[in-house]
Amino acid sequence: MKKTTSFVSIGTIILLLFIHGCSGCKKEAQNLSDSPKKTFIGPFMNEDSILLYVQKQLECGPRNPGSNGHSSCKEFLINFLKTKADTAFLQTFSSMVYGRTYEMSNIVASFSPDKKDRILLCAHWDSRPFADEDETPSKRTLPILGANDGASGVAVLLEMARTLSISKPNIGIDIILFDGEDLGLSGDLNGFFQGSRFASKNYPLPKPKYGILLDLVGDKQAEFRYEPLSQQAHFVLVDNIWSIAKERGSPYFIHETGNSVSDDHVMLNEQGIRTINIIDVNLVGNISTNPRRTYWHTSRDILDNLSMQTMSDVGNVLLDFLFTTSDSVY
Ligand SMILES: [Zn+2]
Repeated sequence: MKKTTSFVSIGTIILLLFIHGCSGCKKEAQNLSDSPKKTFIGPFMNEDSILLYVQKQLECGPRNPGSNGHSSCKEFLINFLKTKADTAFLQTFSSMVYGRTYEMSNIVASFSPDKKDRILLCAHWDSRPFADEDETPSKRTLPILGANDGASGVAVLLEMARTLSISKPNIGIDIILFDGEDLGLSGDLNGFFQGSRFASKNYPLPKPKYGILLDLVGDKQAEFRYEPLSQQAHFVLVDNIWSIAKERGSPYFIHETGNSVSDDHVMLNEQGIRTINIIDVNLVGNISTNPRRTYWHTSRDILDNLSMQTMSDVGNVLLDFLFTTSDSVY
C-alpha cells in the first residue's frame, strides 16, 4: 500500500503539471486520474452463496436468545464454520438481562491460527426479541426476523469464511459472531451488546491488531458513511477501507462523516481492541426520508429489503483490503 500510495502521489503531481501545461488535454488527464489505481485479482464473493446464507438464517425464524430459532441457527453457524475454518468453537456464557438469565454463545472461527498478526471480523448473529419500532402496536412485542439487522453481516462473514477456506491472505483472520447484541430496551445501552461485552473482556483468541464490525450491511440502497467512533478508534483503517471502496467504484460507501452509533465495536474499543464499524447508520432510529428504509426494529426487516450486490460489495472491499493492504495498517 505504501508503494502504491507513493506511486499515486508522484503520478498526481505529474498529472497536475500535465493539466497546467496542456488545457486541451484536460479531459484525457481527468479520465486518467479517474481510472482505478490498481487491479485486484481476487478472490471474490459469490452472490448466490451470500443469498443462501441469508436464507438459511431466516429459515430458522427469529433468532433471539432462548428461542428455537436461536438454537437451530447456532447449530447451522457452528457446523458451517467448522467445515471452513482451521478452528471453530462456541464461547458460551450466561447473562442476566432485565431479571432473566439467558444462555448465549459467541461463535468463533480462526484462519491461520499460527500467524501472529491477526485481524478480527465480526457481526452479531442474534435477532431482536421485540419489534418495538413497529407501526402496529400489537406487533411490538413480537420478535423480528432481522434480515438486515443480524443476518446480513453474518452472511457476508460466512461467505468470507468459504472464500478463506480456499485462499488465505498473509495475515491471520478471526471471525466472531456475537450473541445477544439486540436484547436491550430502547434507551438503555446496558441491555445491548451482551456477546461483545463478554468476548472483549474474555477474549477467546490471541488479541488481533484491530477489528472490523459489520452491522446492517445488506440494504439495496445502503449508505455506509464514516462512523465517528470508528474514526476515533482507528482513523487510518477507516480511511483505507473507504479508499478501497472508492477504487472499486462501490456506490454504497459514501465519503462523508455520518452519525455515530453505539454498537459492538464500542465494547471492543473499551477493552483496547481497536475496532471500526461498517454500518448503514441512517437505518438506526428510522431517520431515513425513504419510507422503505424505515424498517429497523420492525416486522418489516425482511429479505425484500436486501441486495446481494450490497453484501458482495462489502465483502469484496474487505477481501481486497485483507489481501493487499491489511498487513501495512497498524
Ligand atoms: Zn438491532
